[in-house]
Amino acid sequence: MRQSQLFTKTRREAPKDEVAKNAQLLIRAGFIHKEMAGVYSFLPLGLRTLNKVVDAIRQEMNAIGGQELVMTALQDKTLWERTDRWDDEKVDNWFKTSLKAGGETGLGITHEEPLTRIMSEYVSSYRDLPLMAYQFQNKFRNEMRAKSGIMRGREFLMKDLYSFARTDEENQKQYDAARAAYIKTFDRLGLGAVTYPTFASGGIFSEFSEEFQTISDAGEDIIYVHEGKHIAVNKEVYTDEALAKLGLKREELVEKKAIEVGNIFHLGTRFSEALGLAYKDEAGASQPVVMGSYGIGPSRVMGTIVEVLADEKGIVWPESVAPFAVHLVELSNGNADVKAEAEELYRDLTSSGVEVLFDDRDARAGEKFADSDLMGIPLRVVVSEKTLAAGKCECVHRRSGKTEHKTNTELIESVRPERRHGR
Ligand code: ATP
Ligand code: MG
Repeated sequence: MRQSQLFTKTRREAPKDEVAKNAQLLIRAGFIHKEMAGVYSFLPLGLRTLNKVVDAIRQEMNAIGGQELVMTALQDKTLWERTDRWDDEKVDNWFKTSLKAGGETGLGITHEEPLTRIMSEYVSSYRDLPLMAYQFQNKFRNEMRAKSGIMRGREFLMKDLYSFARTDEENQKQYDAARAAYIKTFDRLGLGAVTYPTFASGGIFSEFSEEFQTISDAGEDIIYVHEGKHIAVNKEVYTDEALAKLGLKREELVEKKAIEVGNIFHLGTRFSEALGLAYKDEAGASQPVVMGSYGIGPSRVMGTIVEVLADEKGIVWPESVAPFAVHLVELSNGNADVKAEAEELYRDLTSSGVEVLFDDRDARAGEKFADSDLMGIPLRVVVSEKTLAAGKCECVHRRSGKTEHKTNTELIESVRPERRHGR
């Protein structure tokens, strides 16, 4: 993509009312647009990154047998009344509205209810289980605080996977598979080293649930980290009794602020019993289905990556989610040979399957470099009179600042996708 044609421009300032670092940087770099508090649009660069986060999660969910579907945002009130989650006294963050034709609807906060009902039409025998299904879908929550940028939206993207099993043991296997997939996913997203499976309050039918918590001063949660075991305990369950159950000692744990990027739950039979999701076992007896639920917020993950990896110059994307692999910066200063060389390199990189943002604008070097640092693409490649004379372009790694000089052929060899994926 040519930067001269990209409709977004970088900005020196973020909106005055925006206090979160992730949103300030993403707005300044032209990745997102703030509609109102807690509500953000994803612009072309931002959507490229968000889609990469989504793709990484999707691959890991498919790998454990998750089947993708997409459910509706508008929710059937009568369904939620059956699980007692419609009343504002029970769930305090619904967006609800009345229908012109009479009655009420709400915008989905999560999707246990609708998926359980869908499954009740397809699951009837022990032969139909186990199974897992998931979606990527915008959720709507009337959050009280919306000061964390895209990490806490009132409208936000969620990946929600639900598991359906015959027995507790079968449910535990699905839970373990999902847990392992989450660890792989956060590794791929560049957050593995700072993300801890964290024991938290149980939710339904189990002693603990587990959250995936990423260490960051921008976090709203307090956790106690065991470095050696790479696990943690949320403050909400940090009691002597819980620690004893988990085999952890207070003196081995370190207090940290953290961001909850995902969580996994045993649901037991709460939803299947309330909504009549049952199967006939081999003896012909009716049994309730045992469920689990597993969430990740791709937009919260994207904000978290910005919070954790950004430096004083701007965003630093891991390769796996960067909107482009290479930021090709042409400094032709009116020199036609330099321009031609940059154009040729752009063509060759693109035809080798490399995703390139080509800064072909007529602008000063300082401005181009500042924009490039702000946007955070992992590798900046500069073509100038100097590099043309030397026969090698200049390659600067965004994260380390390390600079190398390479011929065009060497550069293409080092960044072509087959090579980066180790094929
Ligand atoms: P929190 O405790 O932060 O309010 P939650 O426990 O309500 O989140 P879940 O309902 O389990 O979160 O949602 C699953 C995942 O969706 C979370 O782990 C998080 O990554 C993401 N998420 C939840 N709320 C938001 C939000 N308001 N904006 C963006 N992502 C969110
Ligand atoms: Mg939570």
